[in-house]
Amino acid sequence: MDEMRYQLDLLTAINQRLGDQEKMYRLVCESSVNAYLYYSFENNICKCMGNWNEYFNFEIRQLADVAKLLDIVDEKDVHALRNSLFLEKRGLKQETVECHITEKDVWYQFDVNVIYKEDGTPMDKVITISDVSGYKRQTEELAKMAYYDMATGLYNRNYFVMMLGEFLRRAEEENVTVSVIFIDIDDFKRINDGMGIVVGEGLLQSFAFFLKDFEDEHVIVSHFASDLFCIAVYDPCGARSADHICNAIKEKVLQGIISPDGQKLLVTACIGVAEYPEASTNALGLINCAEIVMFKAKASGKNVVKYFDTPIVNEFLQNVKIENKLKHAVFQKEFVMYFQPQFFVDSKKLRGAEALIRWYDKEEKFISPGVFIPIAEKNGMIVPIGQWVIEESIRNFAEWKKRFDCHIILSINISAIQYKQPDFVNELIKIMQKYDVPAEELELEVTESILIEDFEEVVKKLNMLRDYGIKISLDDFGTGYSSLSYLKEMPIDTLKVDKSFVDTIITDHSTKIITGSIIQMVKELGYETIAEGVEDKGQYEYLKEIGCDIIQGYFLGKPMPSEKIAQLLCEEL
Ligand code: C2E
Ligand code: CA
Ligand code: CA
Repeated sequence: MDEMRYQLDLLTAINQRLGDQEKMYRLVCESSVNAYLYYSFENNICKCMGNWNEYFNFEIRQLADVAKLLDIVDEKDVHALRNSLFLEKRGLKQETVECHITEKDVWYQFDVNVIYKEDGTPMDKVITISDVSGYKRQTEELAKMAYYDMATGLYNRNYFVMMLGEFLRRAEEENVTVSVIFIDIDDFKRINDGMGIVVGEGLLQSFAFFLKDFEDEHVIVSHFASDLFCIAVYDPCGARSADHICNAIKEKVLQGIISPDGQKLLVTACIGVAEYPEASTNALGLINCAEIVMFKAKASGKNVVKYFDTPIVNEFLQNVKIENKLKHAVFQKEFVMYFQPQFFVDSKKLRGAEALIRWYDKEEKFISPGVFIPIAEKNGMIVPIGQWVIEESIRNFAEWKKRFDCHIILSINISAIQYKQPDFVNELIKIMQKYDVPAEELELEVTESILIEDFEEVVKKLNMLRDYGIKISLDDFGTGYSSLSYLKEMPIDTLKVDKSFVDTIITDHSTKIITGSIIQMVKELGYETIAEGVEDKGQYEYLKEIGCDIIQGYFLGKPMPSEKIAQLLCEEL
């Protein structure tokens, strides 16, 4: 009897404890913000618990009802959720899936927990459902900041590079091409500086808005920086071919871009196009090629589209190499001055010499000034190089004078940027005084390009130089911007007819006539004329006939080291 009583008390006590525990679990569950779904494998029953009604407007009572969850999630999340809810992966205890609930536009996270028996068969399953919309939106916002460019709303460079990489991976599998289109608005800086950054930004936004229209699953449009945009096209064809897009852009800019404040801005753009796999097989390489081609387009004018070809890129890479080497060349004394003699046409006597720089790099390779001078002009290296040229050629000149007591003219080429240096004139005079050479025997060769900007400022400087007695010679006449009408406004003494005229002076009738009349007119204006690039007797004879004063060219003398000029001077004694 006692034994029975004891058993009864024990059972009551256990029941009481179980009841307390269940109450506790129920309490925790009910006060949670999450919803819970319990499933018993043994009984095939389901139980909805916690904050369930806040989440769902249906109940789940058996396994088959779980499918109701699949009906409310976004199509693209169905597969993952179904797998996780129904596939019992042996031994897997915990799994998490995030789903977008289409109708409510919220994000639910499903944490699926399975409890197994000792023999490995599943016993219970608990699914915790929590609303992660807040967190999701925050991450989306962060992703936006990481992937989008805030100024234009287009993808930024990082995202573009990533997506292009993705395109290339797929393109390799599917054996198709990918185009990269690099766009740079011409003169953007001028618009920005001239009309203000608000207009500049408005222009970028409107342009971005227009480009965004091309975007679809095969086309990514991005804003790289300032006025640089880049488009990638997967499997370009038809309306999404590079040709079509480039033409649409050209047309659009020509019609004018309406900025957000209603202003119509007429701009042009230069475009470079490179294609996978021809130009490169990796994303950065491809972008690089398209950018290089765009630079080339820019160099040839406005509103130009250029397509990748190997020589363009090779030339660019070669120039980058030269630019890097150039930085050391000045300090490592890799330059040497050569001098090309100039002769009076009538007497064939030495009139003077033009100083021409020569560069033999460390490997003794000759790099033409025609190649490196434009690079040095672009990056400013021409200033120290030019200073060296002036001093070195005047030093040589002074030596000839000392040895032969000669009175010839030394011509030095001067780039526009050198003129722009505020102390250019003073520095030149200082060097002249240091070597004690008379101003009258110095001639500076300038090209018309120096006059494009700051005409008055340059003319003022040229006049200062002439007041000292230094001669000014207009180089490369007949190329570029020549206009006979402003010749008379330029303070010059000598005019150098460009080699391109001399080349065809005999063979081309109109060149013959034009050169004849130029020389005639220039003489009447009171300038001396030099024909350059004279290579044969025929040219020489004709130049003599039309009254050209001086000739320079391979026919009478190639550029030569200082010592060779000394020999010529010695022969003339
Ligand atoms: P440039 O001032 O027009 O110089 C004349 C160029 O024509 C020189 O080329 C000269 O070697 C070449 N030449 C002369 N006669 C003939 C000929 O009969 N036939 C042929 N085929 N060519 C002839 P180079 O020395 O290669 O110089 C190229 C350009 O580089 C120069 O053109 C000049 O613009 C620039 N340059 C050269 N040295 C200097 C320098 O010290 N300072 C600056 N700023 N520019 C320089
Ligand atoms: Ca020259
Ligand atoms: Ca020239």
